[in-house]
Amino acid sequence: MLDYNEYSQSELNKLIPIQDEFKEKYKIDSFSHWFYDDDLKIIRLYNDDKHEIFFKYIPIGTYSLTSETWMWSWFNNDENNAETVKIKNFGLENNYRKLYEGTFPSDIYDGWEFLAISFNILDGIGVYTLNTENLNYYLLLIENLNSEKDSNIKILKQQVLDCPNHGLQRKAFVCQHLNLEKPVGFIEAFDTYPKMELEEEDLQAWCNDCENIRRKHNGWNEESEPYAQIKLICENCYFEIKNINQ
Ligand SMILES: [Zn+2]
Ligand SMILES: [Zn+2]
Repeated sequence: MLDYNEYSQSELNKLIPIQDEFKEKYKIDSFSHWFYDDDLKIIRLYNDDKHEIFFKYIPIGTYSLTSETWMWSWFNNDENNAETVKIKNFGLENNYRKLYEGTFPSDIYDGWEFLAISFNILDGIGVYTLNTENLNYYLLLIENLNSEKDSNIKILKQQVLDCPNHGLQRKAFVCQHLNLEKPVGFIEAFDTYPKMELEEEDLQAWCNDCENIRRKHNGWNEESEPYAQIKLICENCYFEIKNINQ
């Protein structure tokens, strides 16, 4: 039996040429932006000229740049991640500790080995990593979706906003006074960072004046809301505004 290092290295060596071919076939490197929906498990790669491609994925795990730890997606207790339990079970059968411990101190290289192992066990067609400020997401791509016919892509497009500057992005809400020209303060409903995982809540922010009025009227209600005239913008616009207002 191979020890873990030999096994993971041989899986990685197998993945590299397959991944090169995959990237060539779908021109993966030609896309400069990404957007993903973790409920639908669909990632969209796209360009400013609206050229786009969609893949179904299985989330394998995340690497936290702040705590320098790996976390398997099954460890999150998300029933949608049931497929990845197969990797855990494989780890238990072979006594590969890194495959059956949910979370542990790690580095960015572990994730690539895990992708290679997942590729074999879960039948991938390619792999993709999303890097955000705090977290790297490791995704196993399992299917290229036809954007004309796939019903989940229609759902995805309804949930997002087609921003004239940034293309399909998640929705965010700001008061009418927030803009890119002049700082007016930036009060948020909760702490945010770009591409963060959102549960039920949307990104929401308002200016200092709105905050004074909100406090005077004990929160957002019929009296305080008319002053804010909340408008819908895209997530990228939201963080551009946040940057100049902080
Ligand atoms: Zn305002
Ligand atoms: Zn935008």
